Amino acid sequence: MESMYFTEEHQLFRESLREFLNKEVVPHIEKWESSGTIDRFIWKKFGEMGYFGLATPEENGGLALDLFYTIILLEELQKINSGGFAAAIWAHVYLAMTHLNKEGSDAIKKDYLEPSVLGDKIGCLCISEPFGGSDVAGMRTAAVKKGDSYIINGSKTFITNGVYCDYMVVAAKTNTELGNKGISIFLVDKNTPGISASKLNKLGWRASDTAEIAFDNVEIPASNLMGEENKGFPYIMEHFALERLIMGVNAHARAEFALDYAQKYMSERTAFGVEINKFQALRHRFVDLYADMELCKVYNYSVAYRLNKGEYVVKEATISKLKSTKMADEVIYDCLQFLGGYGYMEDYPMARLLRDSRLGPIGGGTSEILREILAKILVDKKEYKSAISYKK
Ligand SMILES: Cc1cc2nc3c(=O)[nH]c(=O)nc-3n(C[C@H](O)[C@H](O)[C@H](O)COP(=O)(O)OP(=O)(O)OC[C@H]3O[C@@H](n4cnc5c(N)ncnc54)[C@H](O)[C@@H]3O)c2cc1C
Repeated sequence: MESMYFTEEHQLFRESLREFLNKEVVPHIEKWESSGTIDRFIWKKFGEMGYFGLATPEENGGLALDLFYTIILLEELQKINSGGFAAAIWAHVYLAMTHLNKEGSDAIKKDYLEPSVLGDKIGCLCISEPFGGSDVAGMRTAAVKKGDSYIINGSKTFITNGVYCDYMVVAAKTNTELGNKGISIFLVDKNTPGISASKLNKLGWRASDTAEIAFDNVEIPASNLMGEENKGFPYIMEHFALERLIMGVNAHARAEFALDYAQKYMSERTAFGVEINKFQALRHRFVDLYADMELCKVYNYSVAYRLNKGEYVVKEATISKLKSTKMADEVIYDCLQFLGGYGYMEDYPMARLLRDSRLGPIGGGTSEILREILAKILVDKKEYKSAISYKK
């Protein structure tokens, strides 16, 4: 099946990435999970290997490769079992850098995108706010134009990489009367006076820093507006398709990791004088879980194929995240059960996997919001079209 989408070059890339992760990342994971801080050196190493530039044009120092290289990066990151480390990496590349790639001016690309590809600068995407995450249009953070500057006031929360980043891609209201038609996107350097960020304590994703951020009269150059004023909402919606597919792919990959681990464990663990994989209750459940994972994986690849061709896959990517994250939670819950008491121990991978997986149906659009979007498409026959054309 994989060969429908993955060439020999893709497979070679997967092998060398796997080797890199095992050598350079895995030895540090336990430390980063307990400190909640990822050492800076690894960002530079990712940059040197070109992993941050897979989807960036060559003129900005990237490799401009097809989407299946990104799929491989996402899958392999899940398979070293630190949802937090994986999130830090993909939030930088596919949340922050996607906006720089698409809406950044030449100057922003030079000063922020190119250093992002090299791992010299880390980014985050600031949309969610304390008074509303699902209701993006209800955001209160405001950016007011004053001469050649914008002054930003407000707060954001649950921002991945928010404490240790170097720059932020910030959504703010430039017109408070216009609802979702009054949102713009800005590049904000983290060193700008008036920004404070504090780290949140959370159930999983423990290696990743998740921040609450306050903007107190933060003055940025007007040239840091990304794209057009008041077009922020369409930009965010446009990129959500990729973000949701990413979260779907992450989900099928961590479920596959859980199943591989459980399968091996069940072939070695004995009870009542036989390997536990001989018990019909367990082997049949395993088969059902495997089949659910496989269906999501193959579906996600098909969505990636269409997105890679430039199709607007908002419905498909929404289904991908909705179904795959639920599937991953169920698979991992039962894989933990297959390990009995050991599944509950931190020395075995399922405990962390269960915690990390739980964010899937919440972050980047909750399952309830995704069902609302799908109901509008399927029941109300609402047509979502790509709302923007990028001027080159
Ligand atoms: C670890 C972590 C990392 C994150 N990283 C980022 C990041 O990097 N950048 C960023 O901008 N955001 C980030 N988020 C925020 C995330 O996207 C939001 O948490 C999510 O969109 C939900 O928003 P909320 O938490 O405000 O929940 P709310 O919007 O308050 O929702 C609460 C509950 O009400 C339900 N609900 C709300 N509206 C409806 C409706 N219309 N119909 C039915 N049910 C509804 C929701 O589904 C949910 O169950 C992150 C969150 C976490 C936990």
